[in-house]
Amino acid sequence: MGTTIRCDLAIVGGGLAGGLIALAVKARAPSCDVRIVEGGTTLGGEHVWSFFGSDVAQAHRGLVQDMVVHGWRGYDVVFPNLTRDVDATYYSITSERFDAVLRAKLPPQAIMTGRRVLALSATAVVLGDGDRIEAGGVIDCRGPGDLDTLELGWQKFVGHELALPTAHGIERPRVMDATVAQIDGYRFVYCLPFAPDRMFVEDTYYSDTPGLDVPAIRARIADYAQARGWAGAQVVRREAGSLPITLGGNFDAYWRSTGKGIAKAGMRAGLFQPATGYSLPDAVRFAIALADSGDWSGASLATFAYDHAREHWRRGAFYRMLNTMMFRAGDPAERWRIIERFYRLDPALITRFYAGRSSIGDKARIVTGKPPVPSAIVIGSGFGGLALAIRLQSAGVATTIVEARDRPGGRAYYWEKDGFTFDAGPTVITDPACLQELWALTGADMARDVTLEPVTPFYRLNWPDGTNFDYTNDEAALQREIGKLDPADIAGYHRFLEYAEGVYREGYEKLGHVAFLDFASMVKAAPALAKYQAWRSVYSIVSKFVKNEKLREALSFHTLLVGGNPMTTSAIYALIHKLERDGGVWFARGGTNRLVAGMVAHFERIGGTLRLGDPVTAIETLGDRVTGVTTQSGWTMQADAVAANSDIMHTYRDLLKTSRSGQRTKAALEKKRYSPSLFVVHFGIKGAWPGIPHHMILFGPRYKGLLEDIYDHGVLAQDFSLYLHHPTVTDPSLAPEGHSTFYALAPVPHMGKFPVDWNEIGPILEKRILDEVGRRLIPDIHDRIVTKFSYAPSDFAADLNAHLGSAFSLEPILTQSAYFRVHNRDDHIPNLYFVGAGTHPGAGIPGVVGSAKATAALMLSGR
Ligand SMILES: Cc1cc2nc3c(=O)[nH]c(=O)nc-3n(C[C@H](O)[C@H](O)[C@H](O)COP(=O)(O)OP(=O)(O)OC[C@H]3O[C@@H](n4cnc5c(N)ncnc54)[C@H](O)[C@@H]3O)c2cc1C
Repeated sequence: MGTTIRCDLAIVGGGLAGGLIALAVKARAPSCDVRIVEGGTTLGGEHVWSFFGSDVAQAHRGLVQDMVVHGWRGYDVVFPNLTRDVDATYYSITSERFDAVLRAKLPPQAIMTGRRVLALSATAVVLGDGDRIEAGGVIDCRGPGDLDTLELGWQKFVGHELALPTAHGIERPRVMDATVAQIDGYRFVYCLPFAPDRMFVEDTYYSDTPGLDVPAIRARIADYAQARGWAGAQVVRREAGSLPITLGGNFDAYWRSTGKGIAKAGMRAGLFQPATGYSLPDAVRFAIALADSGDWSGASLATFAYDHAREHWRRGAFYRMLNTMMFRAGDPAERWRIIERFYRLDPALITRFYAGRSSIGDKARIVTGKPPVPSAIVIGSGFGGLALAIRLQSAGVATTIVEARDRPGGRAYYWEKDGFTFDAGPTVITDPACLQELWALTGADMARDVTLEPVTPFYRLNWPDGTNFDYTNDEAALQREIGKLDPADIAGYHRFLEYAEGVYREGYEKLGHVAFLDFASMVKAAPALAKYQAWRSVYSIVSKFVKNEKLREALSFHTLLVGGNPMTTSAIYALIHKLERDGGVWFARGGTNRLVAGMVAHFERIGGTLRLGDPVTAIETLGDRVTGVTTQSGWTMQADAVAANSDIMHTYRDLLKTSRSGQRTKAALEKKRYSPSLFVVHFGIKGAWPGIPHHMILFGPRYKGLLEDIYDHGVLAQDFSLYLHHPTVTDPSLAPEGHSTFYALAPVPHMGKFPVDWNEIGPILEKRILDEVGRRLIPDIHDRIVTKFSYAPSDFAADLNAHLGSAFSLEPILTQSAYFRVHNRDDHIPNLYFVGAGTHPGAGIPGVVGSAKATAALMLSGR
């Protein structure tokens, strides 16, 4: 039977982050019983950590000053076309000294090396030798979490400390020598003169992969030393490593990958400088902040660590954007040019950059030095167009949006009638992080412009027999709902959830915002698609896991929200389930139109221009390039690049009339399958309806048969399924007092399959839909109506130039996804780009905002 050790704070993992926390807390509260539990025999492993003097605030220096083994005034960098001496202090700490300082400053019982940890919770640690620690709080500092949740590049290195037979005569570090052969990405050699006859030489790579060919790199270090005249050197110490460089990803998924509700620090909390991978400055900042917080008990510790790490991630957006520009740049062997350009900037700016504290002016300077595309026009202000325009403008590209309609938003247009506000389209907001990122790119906060309110339940599903199913991410409540349908399906539901998590990781986190320009990119994705049986439909996968028909409908209907038939849409779309579960379902206060207005306000604040009410009539071309646009009013504008958020068929057919390749693409697009259209009845009524949740699905008597009628037969069936939107239950400001706003939406075939006069058929369908809502929810609906109007497929075609009046562009079937969808850049016109529902990954707000990220990465990297 092991011993139970009691203490105030248990730090699991004795690396840099854990060690500094121990020292900072002890310094703040000497009586605090702190333990560091470490599997190895020493603290800090085998490392040299270096930092610029300005990375660590003066007030925090005390924490690390005893650990510094070397300090220099000034360093240099050398590139093929630039040599620069930078006047700044630079310091190094070795793990030996780190270990020694911790042992000197902490009581012996505080250091528990050689102890393997089996498991931990917010207040307990179970050790491999049978002992157990019970602590006021536990903080996990055991290295990285699941890096698969992040989009990464790598900074990898092999370092040798060389003992030289004679003095090398060098006094200052060479932080980058990029005159070496460029191999495996951006390669440079880093040299620290530790003593007159000691030189630390590190061969470093900004690479797409973490793997190290150590023997080859050792040989290169030897060649480099030889070339610098350091012959006869003995290697007295070695280190190697691969540090993640973040390009993007899902912070919350990363955090959760090592357990919810547990405090974390260091790499495990994602606390490293996103551009350089340097961890010391963040480790110091976190240790001091944690010590200052004064509350190290389990739950508070976890909240504190999460909040700190989340904020760090938010602030990192700008650096991740730069990383994306660098790592996605066409030829990895050319990456050095970006760094060389950076080192031409003001040294003070460089210093702030390394400290992760770039000012707005710095950011503008870094990206505007010479962006690959100095100016751009975005045609259309749907969510995709707005997101792209914000990304471009944030990166210093002078961006103009040209929108045909009198208001921005595209499918997220809105009307005000008789005191009611009616949002035209999207109402279910998922993955708020993908939107917040658009503000964070320039260090701004979305909360300044938009307030998102959580919606619970996510949806109420209702069947004609009166069955209700409330769909939420409250695990216990959801299990109860499933139990009401069929308790035997609870286990299957959990297996489905695991499946959804897997496809979410592969399909959304990794591939949801990268462009598929060539078939090779598709081949790369193939193993993941095969693993998750992407050729099967969502309904077929759901049916594999659960038996109850209503539950099958409840778990598969989501694809309809992006225009897909659950019977034929790839099972990859099961990821929507996970997206909602993790990110929740939200509503923008004042309606989705306020989210659009917030995006526009932010875009204009950072210098972008929005031109409304003037449709583009032609994209001008010269040779194989676009030169600008002409609008209906005769206005013209030139730009270095044009990105079309407008309907893909309209863009190729009508705006690129004179381009031969454009007309060939148009012909190919004619053969594709398009998503159905929608018939939407908007109505404002007397009375408040607290019993009707914000989102309801009113299933009809048929599921599969109805879907076949809509998608294949092109029939307007007698029965229908409805989505009912009731925003005033969340935000009463959308209607006059004592009134409610609704819309009821029915998927209907697009105009290619069902070519009717909607002026004739619309009023009939409108009445049937209102009758159905009356029958199921609001008995005297017709008497209560104050205002109403409908939006038909012909309106989608007329207002949005939507091909065949489709509500969601190309149907999201496997053969029209990723590489097989419209590419984010035209195959023949290198400065013509696409963004929005017709491109990868597809419709829906997270989809089109993801497409903006993919397109921006292409445009900004000049790839
Ligand atoms: C009724 C409805 C409900 C929906 N509900 C949801 C939901 O709840 N959640 C969700 O995530 N998604 C939902 N969606 C899907 C989502 O709204 C769309 O996929 C997304 O908004 C499309 O964005 P986009 O970037 O492709 O641009 P669009 O919104 O299609 O905008 C394209 C813009 O281009 C402009 N344009 C076209 N031609 C020209 C031209 N020649 N010159 C200048 N401008 C031009 C148009 O006017 C338009 O503003 C819904 C869609 C609809 C229709």
